[in-house]
This record gives sequence, C-alpha cells and structure tokens, in this order.
Amino acid sequence: MTMSVETQKETLGFQTEVKQLLHLMIHSLYSNKEIFLRELISNASDAADKLRFEALARPELLEGGADLKIRISFDKDARTITLEDNGIGMSREDVITHLGTIAKSGTADFLKNLSGDQKKDSHLIGQFGVGFYSAFIVADQVDVYSRRAGMPASEGVHWSSRGEGEFEVATVDKPERGTRIVLHLKAEESEFADGWRLRNVIKKYSDHIALPIELPKEHHGEEKDEPVEPEWETVNRASALWTRPRAEVKDEEYQEFYKHVAHDFENPLAWSHNKVEGKLEYTSLLYVPGRAPFDLYHREAPRGLKLYVQRVFIMDQADEFLPLYLRFIKGVVDSNDLSLNVSREILQKDPVIDSMKSALTKRVLDMLEKLAKDKPDDYKTFWKAFGQVLKEGPAEDFANKEKIAGLLRFASTTDASGEQSVSLGDYIGRMKDGQDKIYYLTGESHAQVKNSPHLEVFRKKGIEVLLLTDRIDEWLMSYLTEFDGKSFVDVARGDLDLGKLDTEEDKKAQEQVAKAKEGLVERLKQVLGEQVAEVRVSHRLTDSPAILAIGEQDLGLQMRQILEASGQKVPESKPIFEINPEHPLIEKLDAEPDEDRFGDLTHILFDQAALAAGDSLKDPAAYVQRLNKLLVEMSA
Ligand code: ADP
Repeated sequence: MTMSVETQKETLGFQTEVKQLLHLMIHSLYSNKEIFLRELISNASDAADKLRFEALARPELLEGGADLKIRISFDKDARTITLEDNGIGMSREDVITHLGTIAKSGTADFLKNLSGDQKKDSHLIGQFGVGFYSAFIVADQVDVYSRRAGMPASEGVHWSSRGEGEFEVATVDKPERGTRIVLHLKAEESEFADGWRLRNVIKKYSDHIALPIELPKEHHGEEKDEPVEPEWETVNRASALWTRPRAEVKDEEYQEFYKHVAHDFENPLAWSHNKVEGKLEYTSLLYVPGRAPFDLYHREAPRGLKLYVQRVFIMDQADEFLPLYLRFIKGVVDSNDLSLNVSREILQKDPVIDSMKSALTKRVLDMLEKLAKDKPDDYKTFWKAFGQVLKEGPAEDFANKEKIAGLLRFASTTDASGEQSVSLGDYIGRMKDGQDKIYYLTGESHAQVKNSPHLEVFRKKGIEVLLLTDRIDEWLMSYLTEFDGKSFVDVARGDLDLGKLDTEEDKKAQEQVAKAKEGLVERLKQVLGEQVAEVRVSHRLTDSPAILAIGEQDLGLQMRQILEASGQKVPESKPIFEINPEHPLIEKLDAEPDEDRFGDLTHILFDQAALAAGDSLKDPAAYVQRLNKLLVEMSA
C-alpha cells in the first residue's frame, strides 16, 4: 500500500452510546471473539448487495467491475488482518455517521439496562447486535479506507480509531471502489493472523455468504525471496443459501445464515424454507428467533424480511410480506414475479404481494404449530419472548383467527405456577361433562385473579378457568368470541349461566333463595342507589359474602384503566352487586333492624367487593371510618 496524502483531517468523538457499547463489547464478548470476522464479512456482503441494487438503475456505479467479492489477507509479522470488499463503499459523511454513531432507536434505554455482569451483558449485547464495532474485540487499532461507488478516486476516506473515545477521518485517494478494513491485532490475538485460522472461522460462520470470500492461496515448502501478488482462492461456498435444495443445507448452515440476516448472536428456534412454483414463483426462508430483540415494542423498530428479486437484493425490512403481529419473524423472500425496480410504494399496492403475504402468514402459523407440537420446551421459550405480540393476531387477522387462537397459551386455575402454558385445545380436552363454554377471568395480576371470589363456584364444581392478566388480554378477548365452536365466557361478567353444569335442582334452589331474599335485595338497593346497576342474589359464591359483576356490555376494569391512563373519556358504567345468601355476614345483615347500621354494613361490603375486584374506592376515607366505627362497637 502506498502512503497517500491525507487532507481535511479531523478528530471526532464517538457518540456516548458507541463508547458504552465499545467498552462493553471488549469486556463481555472475549469468550466469543472470533465473531468479529463474521460481522465484518456480513457488512461486506450487505455492501455488495446494495451496490448491485443501486447499479440496476445506474450501471455506471459498477465502474466496469461487476465481479463482487471480499478478499481477506493477513500479515503475521505486522499482526494485521485486511478485509477488502468492492461493494457500495462509504463517503466521508457515511463514515462519520455509520462508524461514529448508532442509529437504532431505543439504544440509550437498552444500554441503561445493562447490569455490569459480563455474562448477562454478553447475552444482551448479542440481542442488540454489534456489527462493525466488534472489530475492537481483537484489534487495538482499526483503519478503514473507503470510497463510495460513483465518487471520484480523490474522495476516498480514511477512518482510524483505537476504539477509545474518538476517531480520525481524513480524505484520501482511493482508486478502487469499496471498503478496506485493516485490523491491528492486539498482541494476545495474533493467532488470527493465520491462514488456517481464518479459513476455519470463515467456514464456520460465513460459508453461507453468497459473495465469494477469498484468502491468499497457501504455498507450502516454497521459499520466496520477493513478495509476489498472491493467488486467491475462494473459501466459502459462495451461493445464496436459500437457492439450494433443502436436503442439501445443514442445520448449522441455516443457523449461521439466520445470524447474518437477523443480526442475532443466538440460534433461531425454527425455520421454514420453501420454494413455491406455479402461478407465483418465489422462495422464502423464514425464521422464528429465540428471543425478543431489545426494541420489539418500539414503534419504529426495524421489521420485515429481506427482499430479493431473482437473487438480487432489493431491500431490507420489507414489511409488506407479513402482518404486524408476526413482526418478530426474520428471513428472506426471493421473488421471480416482481420487477427489479420494485419500490416500497409499489409493494404496498401490488396484488401479488397480498397473495404472498397470506401464503407466508400461513407458513409462519404452520411453523409455530409444528414447533408447539414437536418441541414444547422451545415453544415455551417462543411464547415467553413473543406471546404478547402474537396476542395482537386475532384483532389484526380475521381470516386466521382460529389458527392463532390455537397457538395462544394461558395461565389457568389448573396450574398454580401462574405460567402461561395452557392451550385452548388442552382446556377443551379437560372440559366437564355438560360444559360447552370456555371460562376465563381477566385482572391485574396473577396473585389478584387466582384468589378472586369469582372463581369460588368454579372451584366447587371443579371447572377450569383461564386466568388472563396481560395488559392486552381484555382487548384480545373482545375479538376472540369462539374457539372450536365453543364460546368464551368472562366469569366476572353478566348473570353467570352455567348451563348444563347446574342441575335442575341447583336451579330450583337458586330461584327459591332469590325469592326468600327479595326483601333484603330491596333494602340493599335503597342504600346503594345510584352506585349500582343492579343488586341480586349470587350463585357464583361459596366463601365470600358479596361480589361485583360487570354488566354484559360494559368495559372491563382493565380496558377502563388503560383508556383512563391514556387520557380518554371512559363511558360510565355501574357494577352489579351480588350477595351470597348463605354467608353468615349476609344473614346478619338481613336480620339487622337498625337502618343506620344496615347502611354502614352494606357500604362496607360493597367497598370490599370493589377492592377484591382490584378496583380502587371512590371514597376510601369513608370506608375506613365506617370500618373503624364497627371495630370500636365490636370491642366495646
Ligand atoms: P449494521 O450492519 O447493523 O447496520 P454496523 O455497525 O455493522 O451495523 O455497520 C454500520 C453501518 O456502516 C452499516 O449499516 C453500513 O451502512 C456501514 N458499513 C459497515 N461496513 C461497511 C462496508 N464494508 N461497506 C459499506 N458500508 C459499510
């Protein structure tokens, strides 16, 4: 390499987030340091993809050289590794932003969550993706020489940094298009400046890269006096993995390819590789990641598939091919039908995309079904990471509602752990004779719902109830009305009708009690007045004196709280006050001749029922006063 003149030299500081990331990476990824090569090769491959794409519209960008590749050389004595690609390259501005800042939204929050515990952090950082900066795991100085395709040779840029607080940029001559990265290895990492070592690492992590990766051919036993231009040999397979027949691709290859497309460090849970022929022709390779990315709930977080048209990379994050509730799926789709100059705007309107979208959606749902069936433990991992997102499905995708519902997992009264592990299929398999409904209860937390008085009659009869405590659940259930022909019933809502689960005798007895307590119900109505929609005798209870039920058409507590928190006006709704006629407190109340005392007791019972439902009291001070008055009387 000849020394060229550097002009417009300046020293710039890394963005704070980059500094933190660098520090962390160097200290937590040392046990897996060889991945730096995978990351740099991955970037070079993306750069080649981008050049090919831009050259569709501007062939002159190829500057006469369409033979895209990456060459990796090394110098044992100087302790350097050099990676050179002839992809799209970077301008001075590109270098300053791409190699000086991190553009991902939510990065600062992510970095705040790191614990300082290196083992834990190394997992987290993998979830974030490290890319270029991983060079500093093995190098104490990195030099990048780059020139953006289409720019004159005089507008090359040299970036240099020791990975501490700052970097230098200067303008240099760079006749060849693309990027050359020189890693000055730390003394203890000199093992990487070795052909055999590099070849192994490339084979292990980057065999699937479609771009040829070349190393200098090794000449054994030959004495050379003068350095000669090396002969190069391709060490990877250099064909697009998804174009190969399924039977020929090894699991490890699928896994490494996943890490490249998903920028993940860990293996995926499942994948589905399909070639579709016929009216539409395309190949898809879809992956289910093993964990949520740090920005899963960020609205602007990248999502979607990598789109290729006839092997040519067209765009990243093509989000038109899958619905929002499957935004965690990663992968590639390569179409033969779309035009090479397809744009996002065209994608949004093209009917071809619609049919691909529904086919790909179905593939993903099938893949998840298979995962649940064949690898229940992996499905559990999946559910923990993405269950909340999948729950958006029934509202978004009417056509696949039943299929999605079958993939949902719930906590239930049959499992004290509170884990979301019960499928609707499991539930139906355990239904009692005469049961034709799926019962559920929603609430704030598992601790709250599992002791809810609403469950008393179900416990007594041994009927399973699903316990739904995610923020999204009540909303989900407003879309999920039926599964396998059985309707869902919120046990806290309306006038609980257990259908055939109550015998004729049960029903007769209920009617008789209701009749016997008509007088009491009237008195309660007088006291509670406008606070309630109705007062009635309950058949939900065995142990509690009273309970609040929600009106059939009213919003539940969870939805009400969410709407209120977002500042929306919530329609007023009044609860139904139900009493347990067999409870000693209710019997006492019925026998209470003093109207004042009757009133106090009623208010206390009503407020307690609200508390048990997880609601807050309108007038907590009045509740405390009444209760204290009662306590004083008791101890007098
Ligand atoms: P990521 O690849 O996840 O975007 P990186 O930190 O690895 O993050 O790279 C940041 C950016 O730098 C890339 O998105 C790309 O724009 C640019 N870049 C990195 N390496 C190259 C390269 N070899 N050629 C062209 N651009 C590159």
